[in-house]
Amino acid sequence: MPGTSSEKKENPKDSKSKGQLLAEKLTVTKKNIWEGVDAKADKEIEDFAKGYKEILDKGKTEREFSAASVDLLRSLKFKALEETAASNKGQGKNPFSPGTKIYSHIKGKALVFAVIGKKPVSEGINILGAHIDSPRLDLKPSPLFEDTDFALLDTHYYGGIKKYQWTTIPLAMHGVFIDPNGKEVNVVIGEDEKDPVFTISELLIHMSQDQLQKKGIEVVEGEDLDVLAGSRPYDDEKVKEKVKLRFLSILNEKYGLDERSFSSAEVEFVPAHKARDIGLDRSMIGGYGHDDRSCAYPALRAVMEIAAAKEPPEKTVLCYFSDKEEIGSVGNTGAQSWGFENFITAICGEDKLRECMSNSAMFSTDVAAAVEPTYAGVFDKRNSAYMGRGLVLTKYTGSGGKRGASDANAEFCAKVQSMLTRCKIPWQTGTLGKVDKGGGGTIALHAAKYGMEVIDCGVPVLSMHSPFEVISKIDLFTSYKAYLAFLREM
Ligand code: MN
Ligand code: MN
Repeated sequence: MPGTSSEKKENPKDSKSKGQLLAEKLTVTKKNIWEGVDAKADKEIEDFAKGYKEILDKGKTEREFSAASVDLLRSLKFKALEETAASNKGQGKNPFSPGTKIYSHIKGKALVFAVIGKKPVSEGINILGAHIDSPRLDLKPSPLFEDTDFALLDTHYYGGIKKYQWTTIPLAMHGVFIDPNGKEVNVVIGEDEKDPVFTISELLIHMSQDQLQKKGIEVVEGEDLDVLAGSRPYDDEKVKEKVKLRFLSILNEKYGLDERSFSSAEVEFVPAHKARDIGLDRSMIGGYGHDDRSCAYPALRAVMEIAAAKEPPEKTVLCYFSDKEEIGSVGNTGAQSWGFENFITAICGEDKLRECMSNSAMFSTDVAAAVEPTYAGVFDKRNSAYMGRGLVLTKYTGSGGKRGASDANAEFCAKVQSMLTRCKIPWQTGTLGKVDKGGGGTIALHAAKYGMEVIDCGVPVLSMHSPFEVISKIDLFTSYKAYLAFLREM
């Protein structure tokens, strides 16, 4: 009988009732994993966050993030697929012996890299798959115009955004221009402290009575996202659009560009701010592009850890950074293209591809929606992810009746969960809000088509797709530990 007087006398403070013990055994307890973090772990978490913030500031576009990743991989002696093939030509040896470290940078925007394991690739490989594109404002092919004595740049937003969040903040321009001879001109303005920045102006509150009666989706419309780029006229009476001309004259002087240069260019406007610690306790990081770089970076570091080890891994480990996830994984750098498949074909051969794919396992490493304290109503509290509770396993995404979801198999979920528990890595389950309140997807379904086992798992994020998203440092570090465990143990 629980709670009898004799029991209480024996051990007044520590004794648990029969019901309490049963509850401990049978129910799931959810815990903030910061509790009990010691000084050593604290330093590891902090060091990891520092490296992350650096690459987040350096890699605000898919091109920049993948280039920064290639630099880190090359420092560990990873070689491009072509280099490996060339250096082994005519020597008759298998270019992909255990321990070989290779990568393929796909059109400068997507990246695949691997460390070859001891077991044959056809027996299956362990894959981490993230995406490195983030919502932003792209320039249209003919963006520049003059209005009301301003030079303005017309944008087309990329990915799902709440448009009003992107006005009245400092923006930086990250442009890739290709000149008529095929030479690439990279233009980054607004990241250096000494640079000017750009912004999108918005109506003052004093005159917004009509605007504020509109639906949220119409408060700031897509065509209203025009970037303020200049206001000073070119000094010449005879010229018509003087402000526009001054803008172009500076662009030409500094970078050799003209108005036509925009028609083939890729110019992205992103928030100009740097990643910063949030809170007096510095437990969180605010920044642009946590979706999905807060999973891509831990995945990169996990593979780097494997690559730096003396012994090659048992199974081949592979990491895929895809582009265009935010617009449906389309295009020749997206997860629906052949880039990923081509890379695996190169290491296992055409005849073994299907066998390898269907024997493989993948962590689709993408962020999850964390419960927002102010908007808790749209979350199913029992089935949502919480910041500070570790890696989020999302069995399925999709919307409505699970439409568009890759629903991970129970057997695989159980295997992953017991592996994480065995490795003492805190995890939680999550879904994307209440049923019929929204939805979304990841690259999981594109990997699933090959027959491999795949589950979404990643870091919980607040204010997802906004210019300043928030994550917890401990979730970031936990995901790194989880990805490393997956590569080693599965
Ligand atoms: Mn994502
Ligand atoms: Mn997203």
